[in-house]
Amino acid sequence: MQLSGPSIPEKWQSAYDEHLQALEGKVAVVAAWLLLVTVVIYQFSHPLRNIHSSEFLGLEFLFRSPVILVSIVTLLGHYSGRFRWPSRYFLRVMGLSVMAMILSLLLLYLKTGTSGLYQISNGLVISFFGVSVLAVRGPKEWMLLFLLPLAVFAGAAIYLDIPFTGILPLFFDPLMMMVIGMIVMEALRRVLTSEFEARQTLGEMAATDQLTGLLNRRAIWPLLNHELQHAQRAGTPFSLILGDLDLFKKVNDTYGHDAGDLVLQETARRLEGALRRQDALCRWGGEELLVLLPDTDSNGALEVAEKLRASMADSPITAGDNRIHQTISLGVASFQTGDAVDAVVSRADEALYQAKHKGRNRAEMAAASEAAPGAGD
Ligand code: GH3
Ligand code: MG
Ligand code: MG
Repeated sequence: MQLSGPSIPEKWQSAYDEHLQALEGKVAVVAAWLLLVTVVIYQFSHPLRNIHSSEFLGLEFLFRSPVILVSIVTLLGHYSGRFRWPSRYFLRVMGLSVMAMILSLLLLYLKTGTSGLYQISNGLVISFFGVSVLAVRGPKEWMLLFLLPLAVFAGAAIYLDIPFTGILPLFFDPLMMMVIGMIVMEALRRVLTSEFEARQTLGEMAATDQLTGLLNRRAIWPLLNHELQHAQRAGTPFSLILGDLDLFKKVNDTYGHDAGDLVLQETARRLEGALRRQDALCRWGGEELLVLLPDTDSNGALEVAEKLRASMADSPITAGDNRIHQTISLGVASFQTGDAVDAVVSRADEALYQAKHKGRNRAEMAAASEAAPGAGD
């Protein structure tokens, strides 16, 4: 039985897992409502369904109660937002309790020879379909939900001396329905997976600068806001470095626009190489780059800026036959209490202006704003 789904690129794996969890959450809530209503209806509709087994009503309720219980717990967890366990555990317990219920009822009817066997075999058909739809994650879940209960059932049938010749025909239609349920779920999963991939691709394209492959200005904005909130809440520092290539117009004019592009690409590569994993580098505009340094105070940021500067100045960039000496000027600013993101960016911009003014190929620290707006309130 090989129904493994499409493989997701490593970088999207955790987002895909969240996506699946959201799907499982939705399936769990719908399934819980459905089970609650149908199981209660089945419990109280014996006369309607023409089953003369009222002597077993208590026992039947016992078999059905785990399903009712897990449905109620699932719904309570969902609506109260209290339980943080992944929905797939709820789906598992739900599926297993449905299987336990229907197979126990089957054993009861087979053993006692009560009428209504055909009702139970209908119940098997419905349950097998339903449970196969609960196996959102595919074959492994399916094996757990079907093979395990069926093995226990076979053991119990042997123990109770119920001949398999009487049992096997009852499973033909249910197993067909199980296969149909699995195909339905597999198709749904594939559709949702390709939709997920399309959305991720679009998201990445919208967040990435085409020339350099860096984050673009729009994409860094949420990171800046997130860092600001973190700084306000936890009192941790963060810093920004705004860089601008020196006399870049001349590079374009002398070597051509294509060479200029190449310099920009190499700049992105070098700066990225000089940064830590947690830092974010973005193409802020034209040949301006912005670096976000989480958990970094002004001294640390100045060191990083110096490293960035050196990564450009230390060796020329080869563009065709030309070796281009490209330097960068950098302005550094750190978060101060009461700052908005704009304020930090604008101080970094002033510092950058100072760096240009003092002769380029250097990093300058922004002067602390005299009274940080909003400080102390
Ligand atoms: P300064 O040291 O004062 O910054 O001098 P500069 O010549 O770099 O001046 P400025 O920053 O104003 O120049 C920006 C230049 O960058 C102008 C523009 O043609 C060029 N530029 C912006 N984006 C691109 C791009 O994507 N590719 C290329 N090749 N050039 C670009
Ligand atoms: Mg510029
Ligand atoms: Mg420039």
